[in-house]
Amino acid sequence: MARYTGPVCKLCRREGQKLFLKGQKCYTEKCPVERRGYPPGQHGPAQARRRKQSDYALQLREKQKVKRMYGLQETQFRNLFQRAARESGVTGENLLISLETRLDNVVFRLGLAASRNQARQLVRHRHVEVNGKTVDIPSYQVKPGDDIAVRAPSKELEVVEVALGSRTRPQLVEWLTLDEKNRVARVVRKPTRDDIPMEVQEQLIVELYSK
Ligand code: SF4
Repeated sequence: MARYTGPVCKLCRREGQKLFLKGQKCYTEKCPVERRGYPPGQHGPAQARRRKQSDYALQLREKQKVKRMYGLQETQFRNLFQRAARESGVTGENLLISLETRLDNVVFRLGLAASRNQARQLVRHRHVEVNGKTVDIPSYQVKPGDDIAVRAPSKELEVVEVALGSRTRPQLVEWLTLDEKNRVARVVRKPTRDDIPMEVQEQLIVELYSK
């Protein structure tokens, strides 16, 4: 299935919360989630009035929320889940850690891009290197000890400058370090669940895929 290219605010409204899919604009523009706090579409207001959701609906919404936050397609997300289930440890945590250690997410967490979408473009357009080699695969999994940098010809890119200078830039997570001047970062350790600053009930996703 092709990547979703429609209005992203609809996705936030569908999940009933701000997913910050438009980067800085989410802070400067009027947010449709705040203005119209019900799902999009003709039956949106009626859906919002329905109080009780089935277990399946809760699980599905949680999965869709996380998938949309990270900008993944269903197949990619399911494959990541299956890999997480094969690893030792808690499957839900493994899944979130795999999502966090994707290269596009790391570029976003470092503040080099205003949104995960923009970070994916930076990677795809070959502006990012890992350990001195250009990597143009957004799903590339970074490991402790990896050095991530904006490539020399791209260091002064306007989108990077703007993202780094933004007041709404995310706080740097503890498992990454950044030399902002040189646009060079390092993965100092593997993240843990506590390092992932998101309100997600990953257990619901595990239950959904375990049916
Ligand atoms: Fe979501 Fe941002 Fe649109 Fe608000 S402005 S609905 S947070 S993408």
